[in-house]
Amino acid sequence: MEGGAQVGRRGSAGHEALPNPDHEVMDYSQRIARQVAAIPRSGIRDFFELVLGRDDVISLGVGEPDFATPWNIREAAIHSLEKGQTSYTSNLGLLSLRKLIGGYVHGFFDVEYDPASEVLVTVGVSEALDIALRALINPGDEVLYHEPCYVSYMPSVVMAHGVAVAVATHKRDGFSLKPEELAKAITPKSRVLLLNFPTNPTGAVASNEDLAGIAKLCIEHDLICITDEIYSELRYDGVKHVSIASLPGMRERTILLHGFSKAFAMTGFRLGYACAPSPLIEAMMKIHQYAMLCAPITSQAAAIEALENGAEPMQRMKESYHERRDFFVRRLNEMGIDCHLPGGAFYVFPDVRKFGLSSKDFAMGLLEAQSVAAVPGDAFGPSGQGFLRCCYATAFDQLQEAADRIEKYIGTLG
Ligand code: PMP
Repeated sequence: MEGGAQVGRRGSAGHEALPNPDHEVMDYSQRIARQVAAIPRSGIRDFFELVLGRDDVISLGVGEPDFATPWNIREAAIHSLEKGQTSYTSNLGLLSLRKLIGGYVHGFFDVEYDPASEVLVTVGVSEALDIALRALINPGDEVLYHEPCYVSYMPSVVMAHGVAVAVATHKRDGFSLKPEELAKAITPKSRVLLLNFPTNPTGAVASNEDLAGIAKLCIEHDLICITDEIYSELRYDGVKHVSIASLPGMRERTILLHGFSKAFAMTGFRLGYACAPSPLIEAMMKIHQYAMLCAPITSQAAAIEALENGAEPMQRMKESYHERRDFFVRRLNEMGIDCHLPGGAFYVFPDVRKFGLSSKDFAMGLLEAQSVAAVPGDAFGPSGQGFLRCCYATAFDQLQEAADRIEKYIGTLG
């Protein structure tokens, strides 16, 4: 590298030095944007670097379905390629897909959006979240979110030049957000509330009463609500999911984020969407069109099939998660690990505080002694300390074996 060679020469004491690959040739620390440098490394990444390369490990760590995408959906992607559909689409996404999304969202969330101007197809909920935050936040604006939470929330707020304000949630409330706790965190600088029910990493859901209390606060304090409902189909015990967007006075101040990754087992397709009043979608579109142009057409073709013919395979996967949740929570409680029954998603969040170890020490010990990987709860925020996140979207026999190994491990802790 030219620049590197010059620096190498300047740094040497009078003789011609060749660039030495072992030497830092440039001080990059001053070149990384401050808000990026300020973001800590993900605790999950650190943990999984330890797991990499070990094939004896049962992983309860990765937050994605163990199912391959249903075959009819994969086939739709293949057919789309066969037909030579390899172009860009409209920035907003294929109109046929947006129409289907509009219909699905109306049926499932009970909120109506105009496919022409109020639906934006994105590269996963990840992109939708990023551009929603960037579209709304001016430097110094506060974004409230409940924690423990998905690892990308705080960094996404910080990268959008916002101030991340975490509202702790507690085991006694099933890790749901209580309106009274939220009220205490609101200041005149609060602009956005970021919600995620069912919640990653706790599986928490909000009661209708709490959701109404949260909506009331959004209206009183003029907050825009970004609601990440990526796990909304995965609600168990026959309970119907309710979106905050459907509550009176909320549609106009809500950006509803949803996608195909979880319920349709389509993580690798990278497809999601945002629904919101058109001025908000238009603002998000400005970023999307320059940063992303459009979501991949092959994935959009797959998503069309998911919405047209994906209900049945989705239901089968959901039933399987339901069984696994019941099994795993029962096993943990039977062996003496206190674990609440989460209402949604595919995570359990057992309490390991009684063993007197930090989340990380417990998880490291479990990995070392029994080759089971679960994520330390504090990787999702400080109120996750003393807990573990276990993803039960793992084959049933693996889950049984993991439970047996966890039991052996705690037997050694005294
Ligand atoms: N939100 C939450 C709460 C998640 O758990 C995840 C993925 N683990 C995402 C968003 C990202 O989803 P996508 O694959 O649609 O980008």
